[in-house]
This record gives sequence, C-alpha cells and structure tokens, in this order.
Amino acid sequence: MTGTPVTLNTEWLSDCSGCHIAIVDLHEKILSVLDAVTIQRCPVLTDVKDYPHATVGLVSGAIRNTHDREAAEKMRECCDLVIAWGSCAVFGGPAGAGNVHTPEELADAVYLHNKTTVSAPTPQRGVSPLEALVSPLDQAIEVDLYLPGCPPHPAFVFDALLALVEGRTPKATQESVCGHCTRQMRKTDADTLVSDASGAADPERCFLSQGCLCMGSVTIDRCLSPCPQNGVPCTGCSGATMQVLSEPNRDIRTEIAERMARLTKIPREAIIKEIERTSKSHYSYTMATRMIGTKPTFHIKRWIDDADQDHEGAKYERR
Ligand code: SF4
Ligand code: SF4
Ligand code: SF4
Repeated sequence: MTGTPVTLNTEWLSDCSGCHIAIVDLHEKILSVLDAVTIQRCPVLTDVKDYPHATVGLVSGAIRNTHDREAAEKMRECCDLVIAWGSCAVFGGPAGAGNVHTPEELADAVYLHNKTTVSAPTPQRGVSPLEALVSPLDQAIEVDLYLPGCPPHPAFVFDALLALVEGRTPKATQESVCGHCTRQMRKTDADTLVSDASGAADPERCFLSQGCLCMGSVTIDRCLSPCPQNGVPCTGCSGATMQVLSEPNRDIRTEIAERMARLTKIPREAIIKEIERTSKSHYSYTMATRMIGTKPTFHIKRWIDDADQDHEGAKYERR
C-alpha cells in the first residue's frame, strides 16, 4: 500500500460512539495521518451517507439489529481492508451483555417497565428489528484486522492507521494490562474479598493482593493500563487476552481466582463464587464472542439464576 493514496471509510454500528470520538484524541497527530489518508465517509466528520470505494474501512460497534448487519455488509463490499475497531466490533462489547435476555425482554424493560419513563408500546416503525443475539463484526462479515480497546488508546489507533499507510503490520503486543501496571503482586494476609477499591488502600500493591477483583491479568493491553494506575481496578474493557480466548479450559474467573488465591488467604472457591455472582459485569465486554460464549466453562445463565436465588434467600432470611 506504500506510495498509493489511502482512502478511509468509517462506520458505527451498535455502540456508544466512543471509538469515533477517540480519533479526536489523536490531537495534532491526526495531521500526519491526514497527510496520507483521505477520509471520505465518517459519521462524526462528514455528511456522506453512501459507501464510496475505499482502501480501508474502520467499523466500530456490534451487530445488534438488522441495520447493523446491512451497514457492515456495505462496508465489506466497498472497502479493500476492513478493521474491527474497538471492543464492541471485536468481541460484541457491552451490548453483548444483552445476550442473557431475549429481545422481547429487552424491549419490555425499555418501553413498558422502564422506571424513569412513561410506559409505551415498543415502536414498530422506524426502528430496526433486534437480532436474537448480539454478534461481533466477524460473525457477519470477513474482518482483516482486529483493534480491540474501549476505545483503543490513541497510540494504538495512530499506529494502526500509520501501519496501513506504510504497508506494515501494526505493532500491537499480546501483553496483558498488568504489563504496564506498576502495582506489585505480593503475597498478603488478606482473608476477605473487598467489593470496591476504597477497601484496597495501598496504591503500590496489586488489587488482587488486597482482596479486590481486578481483571488486568486476563485483559489485553490496548489502553496502557490507566485504571489501576489511578486507583481503579481494571474491568476488562479491552477484552480478554489471547491465552484466555484461545485455550478452551482457561477462563476469566478461574484465572483470576487462582492468581488471587495464591496472593492472599482467600479461598479460591469464594473468589469464583463472587465472580459468578457478578458475572454480567466481569464478562460484559466479551460474552458475545463465541471464543468466550461457547467455552465449556462458561455458564452465565446458571450463575445469574444462582445469584438471584441467593438474593431471594437473603431477603427471605431478613424478613
Ligand atoms: S468499544 Fe467502547 S468506546 Fe468503542 S464504541 Fe464500544 S463501548 Fe464505545
Ligand atoms: S491485577 Fe490489576 S492491580 Fe494487579 S498488577 Fe494486574 S492490573 Fe495491576
Ligand atoms: S478497564 Fe482495564 S482494559 Fe479498560 S481502560 Fe481500564 S485498565 Fe484498560
């Protein structure tokens, strides 16, 4: 691709728009990209509704409804290379957490039983029908390159765009979030789980060593680890590491539980139970990808039912 003019189309499917806004975070670096790339279609920058031919297509967002699927297919037809851009496109992202409910349950919760708006029938016209399940982009069209992150750090976006201009492979590594985190994993006497970061006060010690769940060790680094460095445990928004994705019996909850049990005095089983209880949060970014959703170790509906029963039991005991 070196020496030839690069044209770029972008499209967003079901997402929060954060990946597109991340282009702005390139600041003046965007000028070096614009020198070599002509942006033709980009929902936040241009008012181009059709799909001109382009060398590269960046697609953010998951396939949630019929419109998403059609837009993804149009991008595939008009772009020589398609990049799945951001965790929604690569793994399904937060929208994937909807897969534990049917489309009817979701519509009911939004339109009929929404606690903050007046009940209304689900609109039948002008709204694209939901598909049965949320899917990552590569379950709808062929994808040439994956750029996870929520959104990917501007350094990775810049490198990916420059790599395309220069005709090379992007420099992305397989390191986990722990790779850039400066907190130290040390064995401690912690014997109870703490539910938030305020219970893990030592800023130099790994959250896991302090009994606080952090997903850094099972999450691919596409962000340069800002959260644990600023006092917040990682919630896994960049998506799982290749090790967790590709090995059938490695799983987010067992990996974290084993590591935390080695670093503390908290029993492994108690940690697993807590991750299952909060599984909608811990698997929210990646559960829509088959690499997680079809693992023999992944039983989210059972975990949610068990958590609901425990909750009901606790309410009963309190009466
Ligand atoms: S990956 Fe994150 S930032 Fe990008 S669109 Fe999805 S939710 Fe938004
Ligand atoms: S588990 Fe979290 S706090 Fe511990 S080293 Fe990894 S990213 Fe840092
Ligand atoms: S939650 Fe984790 S993966 Fe997401 S930005 Fe924070 S450190 Fe990175």
